[in-house]
Amino acid sequence: MLSSEINKFRKIVGNKNVITDKNDMQKYLKEWRGVYTGVAGAIVKPKSTEEVSNILKFAYRKNISCIPQGGNTGLVGGQIPFNKNHIVISLERLNKIREINPTDQSVTVEAGLILSDLQKKCDENNLIFPLSLASEGSCSLGGNIASNAGGVAVLYYGNTRELVMGLEVVLSDGSIINNLKTLIKDNTGYSIKDLFIGSEGTLGVITAATLKVFPKPKNTYTALLSVDSPKQSIEILNYIRNNLSIPLTAFELMNNFSIELVNKHMDKASIPIEKFKWLILVEFSSIEVSKNEKDKIENLLNEILHQNLAKDIFISQSSKQAKDMWYIRESISEAQKKEGGSIKNDISIPIKDISKFINNAEKISKKVIPGSRSVIFGHIGDGNIHFNISQPVKSDRDKFIKKDKKLRKKINDLTIELNGSISAEHGIGLTKKADLKKYMKKDVELFKLIKKSFDPKNIMNPGKIIDI
Ligand SMILES: Cc1cc2nc3c(=O)[nH]c(=O)nc-3n(C[C@H](O)[C@H](O)[C@H](O)COP(=O)(O)OP(=O)(O)OC[C@H]3O[C@@H](n4cnc5c(N)ncnc54)[C@H](O)[C@@H]3O)c2cc1C
Repeated sequence: MLSSEINKFRKIVGNKNVITDKNDMQKYLKEWRGVYTGVAGAIVKPKSTEEVSNILKFAYRKNISCIPQGGNTGLVGGQIPFNKNHIVISLERLNKIREINPTDQSVTVEAGLILSDLQKKCDENNLIFPLSLASEGSCSLGGNIASNAGGVAVLYYGNTRELVMGLEVVLSDGSIINNLKTLIKDNTGYSIKDLFIGSEGTLGVITAATLKVFPKPKNTYTALLSVDSPKQSIEILNYIRNNLSIPLTAFELMNNFSIELVNKHMDKASIPIEKFKWLILVEFSSIEVSKNEKDKIENLLNEILHQNLAKDIFISQSSKQAKDMWYIRESISEAQKKEGGSIKNDISIPIKDISKFINNAEKISKKVIPGSRSVIFGHIGDGNIHFNISQPVKSDRDKFIKKDKKLRKKINDLTIELNGSISAEHGIGLTKKADLKKYMKKDVELFKLIKKSFDPKNIMNPGKIIDI
């Protein structure tokens, strides 16, 4: 990258907000799992929408490609640059809460705001923003929107897409589209907002968003249930849905090995159930103050036990116990990382076929990589399974990782056969680009037309999701 170009970026955002030092850039170039390490000409950190616009106006003129980045927690390589003539536009300084609007039940935030900071602010205002992920202490709202993040509360509140009311975006030529509306009804043609949700930085830069918030539940009830199979977990899900009107806000399945890893690598988790093959973490939330809610939930869970749908049940009696239960679930990714090489499949399957998927996928992975160990967990209530594989004990990590392609192909084939999705929540980025091309040929042709009309010079995160 020419020094004159770097100087221009310095003029726009200020000297200290353009990073070119190799060491200082590492934070923005390395992906969380260490799968991708990139290169870039500079990291440019704007503080306002106008600065983003000026960066893009200049980049458009000079054909400089731009890779938007939020918290750098994406798991498909979308936020990583791979060319020393490209720049990262880091949104981390664009992080204000512009408005909290309890009447319209909305907040307007800038893209670089960290998700947990928004959650805290909502909590102080007796509200919740329900998006909740294990990476919430680092990921940004802009990144959440650009990757249409899922997480543990989708079951009741929906994906990020369902939580976005309006967006402010900057297009590749620097023009600003401000659609920060709090409208419930707005049928004004094609939805630009929806195109940006899940666009992974390929259409433009999201600079701000108006998001839905909800009344803070007065009570949450958390429980762990042990079951012998994923099939039983689906039976329990249906039983709860058919017999209780208190909102079920989470329903997470974890296999035994996931929890073994948490116990091995993280602070020891306190698990109130001794022996189990699978654990389900359920959470109910309620905005009403009703005395008999707890009884209703306990009765229902006891019925589940007596009908032999679950083997054992533990209902949390304190917020500390509930927190410990969530700690187990949220530590699985981190624990698996510490166990060595992993191959990850973030897929979704129609709920009726989840059990079939897990059984067949286990057989496939054992055949392709004998000795491999399955770390299976996920938002089973949404049909979303993280079917992850850890390398066999004492095996060579690189040799194991080389099997990724073969294994993924078979898992993807199975997913498609069952009418599922090859990417439930992490997106496409680089990791799943070839898979997208293979399984969604016709969609990819349309994607290219959309991409060309938003970004005719292909300067926005080129090479991610699709090639044009
Ligand atoms: C431990 C762990 C747990 C996770 N759990 C979940 C989970 O449960 N559910 C889930 O969905 N994901 C999960 N993720 C993945 C990740 O946290 C999410 O995809 C998150 O939404 C990414 O946000 P970010 O700010 O880190 O984005 P980044 O990683 O910085 O970027 C992700 C993508 O969005 C683009 N982008 C970022 N900001 C903008 C912007 N302002 N405008 C335009 N494009 C932009 C980037 O170019 C890139 O393509 C997890 C990750 C980790 C490490």
